[in-house]
Amino acid sequence: MAERSSKSEGFVSFTCPSCLKLEIRRSLNERATGARYICKNCEFTGPN
Ligand SMILES: [Zn+2]
Repeated sequence: MAERSSKSEGFVSFTCPSCLKLEIRRSLNERATGARYICKNCEFTGPN
């Protein structure tokens, strides 16, 4: 799983670890607080 971060832009983006088709973006604040995300393609959820 490739994950990259950019502090200058204030968010991280990564490909959905389940379906590998959708790019998910989270703000660093959301990541820090462990806010959940959901993949709109396969409905995978998690902070992982
Ligand atoms: Zn997915």
